[in-house]
Amino acid sequence: MCQFCIKHGEGKKWYLQAKNYAEDLLSDLRRRNFILNFFGHPEHFAREAAQMERLTQAPAFVRRAISGLVTRRMKKVHFGQVVPLEDIEQIFGFVNSIVRVPCICRQVTLGHEVRYCYGVSMGLGGGAFGDLLHELDDSFLFGPETSEFEELDAQQALEAFADHEKEGLCHSVWTFVPPFIGGICNCDRVDCVAMRATVVRDVKVMFRAEYVAEANPDLCTGCRSCMRVCQFGALAYSAAAQKASVDQTACYGCGVCRSVCPKDAIALKPRAEVPAVANLW
Ligand code: SF4
Ligand code: SF4
Repeated sequence: MCQFCIKHGEGKKWYLQAKNYAEDLLSDLRRRNFILNFFGHPEHFAREAAQMERLTQAPAFVRRAISGLVTRRMKKVHFGQVVPLEDIEQIFGFVNSIVRVPCICRQVTLGHEVRYCYGVSMGLGGGAFGDLLHELDDSFLFGPETSEFEELDAQQALEAFADHEKEGLCHSVWTFVPPFIGGICNCDRVDCVAMRATVVRDVKVMFRAEYVAEANPDLCTGCRSCMRVCQFGALAYSAAAQKASVDQTACYGCGVCRSVCPKDAIALKPRAEVPAVANLW
């Protein structure tokens, strides 16, 4: 059980608690301002992303100190956790609206609209979160390439997520001043600023799933499809055995490898049941 489950989930998976998506959390002025600033000023986000890239040139002790500060700050305002598809399905089962929106990371890194992000809300039609975003004027959200948010039902959204998974994208929930969860993203380590910071730059703003993958050597035929999609470099291949195996200390538990395995050789286990990584987040 991760620190967020203890703090925001009363010992259960915190992102499966409807109260953490509640509309009334948006009456908090600090949270509202954070959301408006986050989506209304992508240039701030771009500046922070550039600073993160420059951090690699700093001496190791400076990198460590800054990385710790960034993680502590982000835990108070905007952090993510990897969530596999079966838990995403549960979230889609209790939220009342799901809207597909342009991804702010891809806006910053690619300079154009890509719709890999989904706003989730207990309200209808985007709820109070959507209303708040509509207060924004002339931002990337409503720019010339974007006519409107797309509202999806749970089944459509789940199918879209399954497609994203086939593309090798990893699902993650995101807070906007915790415990409020307002979005679910589909990330990769090249274009997603948060995942790149976490996996490539060692500045942790995205945490591991409540699960970890395990490959069954009796079923694995060594095709290596799983290795092509793992964003975390957690799969290894033994030429002698002609089998893939999971380095569970590197695995984030996203389940993307499982979805491409033609032999159903990969399963997700609860992280708590694997002592070596039970407390690795
Ligand atoms: S995709 Fe499945 S069968 Fe292929 S190497 Fe990976 S675990 Fe083995
Ligand atoms: S090995 Fe772990 S991190 Fe890599 S794709 Fe599989 S579940 Fe995700």
